[in-house]
Amino acid sequence: MKYISTRNTASVASAAVSVATGLAPDGGLYVPSEFPALDYKSLFGLDYAARCDKVLRAFFDFNVDGIAKEAYAAFDGDPAPVVKLDEKFFVLELWHGRTHAFKDMALSVLPHLLVAAKAATGDQSHSLVLVATSGDTGKAALEGFKNISGTECCVFYPTDGVSRVQKLAMQTQDGDNVCVMGIDGNFDDAQTAVKKAFADVELNKKLNKNGVELSSANSINIGRLVPQVAYYFSSYCDLVEAGEIKAGEKVDFVVPTGNFGNILAGYYAKKMGLPVNCLVCASNKNKVLTDFIETGIYDVNRDFYKTTSPSMDILVSSNLERLLFEISGRDALLTANRMNELKTKGRYEVTESEIESIRETFACGYADDDEVADAIADMFDEYGYLIDTHTAAAYAVAARRGYNRPTIVVSTANPYKFAPAVLSALGAGGHGEVDKKTFDKLYDETAMEIPESLANVFDAPVRFDKTIDKSDVIAFISERFGE
Ligand SMILES: *Cc1c(COP(=O)(O)O)cnc(C)c1O
Repeated sequence: MKYISTRNTASVASAAVSVATGLAPDGGLYVPSEFPALDYKSLFGLDYAARCDKVLRAFFDFNVDGIAKEAYAAFDGDPAPVVKLDEKFFVLELWHGRTHAFKDMALSVLPHLLVAAKAATGDQSHSLVLVATSGDTGKAALEGFKNISGTECCVFYPTDGVSRVQKLAMQTQDGDNVCVMGIDGNFDDAQTAVKKAFADVELNKKLNKNGVELSSANSINIGRLVPQVAYYFSSYCDLVEAGEIKAGEKVDFVVPTGNFGNILAGYYAKKMGLPVNCLVCASNKNKVLTDFIETGIYDVNRDFYKTTSPSMDILVSSNLERLLFEISGRDALLTANRMNELKTKGRYEVTESEIESIRETFACGYADDDEVADAIADMFDEYGYLIDTHTAAAYAVAARRGYNRPTIVVSTANPYKFAPAVLSALGAGGHGEVDKKTFDKLYDETAMEIPESLANVFDAPVRFDKTIDKSDVIAFISERFGE
């Protein structure tokens, strides 16, 4: 299987090069030259890791032996269980990994893929993975990369821009090949500093001389997207095997989305032959994607809101580029032009027939913070089932639609990850800074088990407590990893 760039189909790369480099040289995203077919029936009777293994093999022709098995061994039980809440209403839980959120599904696999891809290309350099994070991705990347030989993971977060629990979780990170650094500034400053490091010729020269190459764990890497395809297949198989749906019956997925990565994997699954009827894109108050699906206009010239579902507080959804590429009939020039318009004007528009073809598969909806809180309370009252704020946005959208056909709501975080907002949704919030007592309170309200590793951050020793100015990031990397 070859990969092509969304901005230049003549730019062709092997699977190994696509994973190892992350981004095409023209700035486009790598997509498979054609979608491999996968018969879901061939996944019956397999456990999650074995199903994921089949998906990896469908996309990657380098050696992926044992990768899925090793990655998902770190999970607590079934990595992607499906819970039945009502007739035709199911929840797919994607938060049984080390950091208790959906990012673990891909970031547990990506480090192994990166090592395998580099072995395939004969690249013997040490990979220095730079991550700018607003909280969740950084922790998931640290857990995914820790102690993976041949890699080093360095995370930059805005010192005053993440929650206390997120900060402590990163500052207390274990592992020999990790580092965590606060940046004076906001998330964009951290992101810009990291982008500058990638573009800094002098820095890269110095690192290369020392056998180090920069690498990215960003969600635009095809190596992050492909592992996510597996849970769409797996949940479908689980429902057929449990007798909840008939083989071949079409289902709807309702997906809380920010960067369009989670839901795009569902689109890929459908392209590969999974019987999916509709993919419902659920946004929070930053509803740029909902507006796009409704109007055909993508426009980031709007207010940005900080919501109770921060992992979906995104205006530029990078992975949408891959969908644009497909619905334009794989027109790379048109896709490149649109991405250029987005960069220069913050806006682009697709044609009437393109938006119609998007609506053949995608529906959309959004929930603001009040609706999210109501959804958490409703879900708990109605089903005794606790959800986090991101999942609640999807549930609010799903409940409005009703369950005319089997509907799977994708659940992306353990509620304890967003304990203060969940507590206040249940009418028990409002007691200051989050600490262990916040978790105990949520336990008292709901009797849901507290994830040990989340509670432990309050006692674990802090290993990384430094903050540097954004202008010092390159000097820091250079000193630490160049000679
Ligand atoms: C990242 C994230 C999402 C959104 O996923 P995308 O790939 O950005 O669409 C939803 N919920 C949680 C908890 C997340 O961490």
